[in-house]
Amino acid sequence: MFGGFIIARPYGIPLRLHWTLIVFLPFIALRMAAGMGISSALWGWVAAFGLFASVALHELGHSLVARGRGYPVRDIVLTPIGGVAFLASAPRRPNDELVIAIAGPLVSLALAVLCWLVAAPLLHSPALNLALTIEFLGYINMGLVLFNMLPCFPMDGGRVFRAWQAKKHGRLEATRRAVTLGKFFAALFVVLGLFNNLFLVVIAFVVWQAAAAEYRVVQMQERPPPRNPFAGFVDPLSIFRNGPPSVPRQHEAIDVEVGPPPYEK
Ligand SMILES: [Zn+2]
Repeated sequence: MFGGFIIARPYGIPLRLHWTLIVFLPFIALRMAAGMGISSALWGWVAAFGLFASVALHELGHSLVARGRGYPVRDIVLTPIGGVAFLASAPRRPNDELVIAIAGPLVSLALAVLCWLVAAPLLHSPALNLALTIEFLGYINMGLVLFNMLPCFPMDGGRVFRAWQAKKHGRLEATRRAVTLGKFFAALFVVLGLFNNLFLVVIAFVVWQAAAAEYRVVQMQERPPPRNPFAGFVDPLSIFRNGPPSVPRQHEAIDVEVGPPPYEK
């Protein structure tokens, strides 16, 4: 599902634009112009770029903290419903998961405050459209904080929930609880989305899939391997049939980021 063009390498981390984002960007720009109450499409585009720059900075927050804690970051992918940062391996220690999960929303919170501080004095100047756009990006960033901090695994709040539960119940049971809660929210998003916004239904689908997939990975990682009656016996011909044994490479998303779904106030 993921891939796309590399548009920048902040701190050496490839930042990719998924092709679907390019398709959806004009639609998002239109929705954002309408949300701001500005008739000029230009400001819709500025806000749309601002939204994805905000999401990229949020992901960079997760990524730099992850790297600082010893988890290499493969890349960051921006999609129409938000961004995803991929680590070479998921954090195993609850405290690592906690600080990595919280870093993104903290960046968004700082950006929200910054936008509002910059916009306030401009609201009474001739640069009204600029001021409204920056103020709107403040709301967008606050939306990123609030929406992503819902305890909806594998979004940030769900990861915080799992880290908290993992300290008491271990990683597997904590993941099971977080996934159950995540699926409950996904079902809620479907109900709300069908009446309000189809983006929310897409997000619900992605959240459900990602939660289920991550649970399978954790089950494989945490369960002891089954006893193999042929342990120690190596079939010398198997290398010709199957090729050399390969180590599966897992790139695990630390984030299923989502923009505030309505893209409007
Ligand atoms: Zn995040």
